Amino acid sequence: MKLDGFFRKALNELEIGGRTKRVRGKEYTELTRPCPKCTRLNSEMELAEQLGVCTCGYHFRQNARQRIAYLADAGTFTELDAELESKDLLEFPGYPEKLASAKLASSEKEAVITGICEIGGTKVCLFIMEPYFMMGSMGTIVGEKITRLFETATRDGLPVIGYTVSGGARMQEGILSLMQMAKISGAVGRHSAAGLFYTVVLTDPTTGGVTASFAMEGDVILAEPGALIGFAGQRVIEQTIRKKLPGDFQRAEFLLDHGFVDAIAPRREQKAQITALLGLHKREVSA
Ligand SMILES: [Zn+2]
Repeated sequence: MKLDGFFRKALNELEIGGRTKRVRGKEYTELTRPCPKCTRLNSEMELAEQLGVCTCGYHFRQNARQRIAYLADAGTFTELDAELESKDLLEFPGYPEKLASAKLASSEKEAVITGICEIGGTKVCLFIMEPYFMMGSMGTIVGEKITRLFETATRDGLPVIGYTVSGGARMQEGILSLMQMAKISGAVGRHSAAGLFYTVVLTDPTTGGVTASFAMEGDVILAEPGALIGFAGQRVIEQTIRKKLPGDFQRAEFLLDHGFVDAIAPRREQKAQITALLGLHKREVSA
């Protein structure tokens, strides 16, 4: 009788923290994550310490609260409009269930968090989109929260710092979600006309109606390394123009070379870069 392993209790799914998956032959659990670039198994603890960046430089997706914890000076963040949440205005089939599971997956009420905080000692209005809530899709509440933030910034004479991540407009809200592009752009325009500063950081992925509006309206546009940034998908464009596009087309570095973004911002350097930009654009108040 073979007793090898007889007394060792098999790990069940709950004990190892949930699902077990396989990526390129490597098994991993929710406590470890393999890097899609170099296949290194990163523990969640390591990733938390490294701001979600693998040793090879690959940037994992980060949720909005993690970004706020890194960016905002300790204890300065005050959230705005936290109570706003989407309603199924068009009675779109399956939307209420989608919203419920997005809330569960992200522990957030909506796909963007807005608020006021200090970054490097400068008071700013901050919005950060949430990838784990329907991949940051832009519905009426996302539009409303960002618009209100720009209006607050314009009224109080504050700069705006924004982080985008989005699959685009929220199809379950139809034309109402598309209208957010114009609504937010109007608020960005009034903020700009008041001589105020807006910097946006594009993160992976920033696409669709978000790219076609406020993601591209920053005075300075930064992008995380390797981020996918575009409007339509590569295949759709290839089919339309009947031409093969380069493989890195729509990646942050390609967009930098072609003048669509101003600089690549590795996560570890973002706070220093944003602080420096805020310093350059600080308006001197004359006595
Ligand atoms: Zn890696």
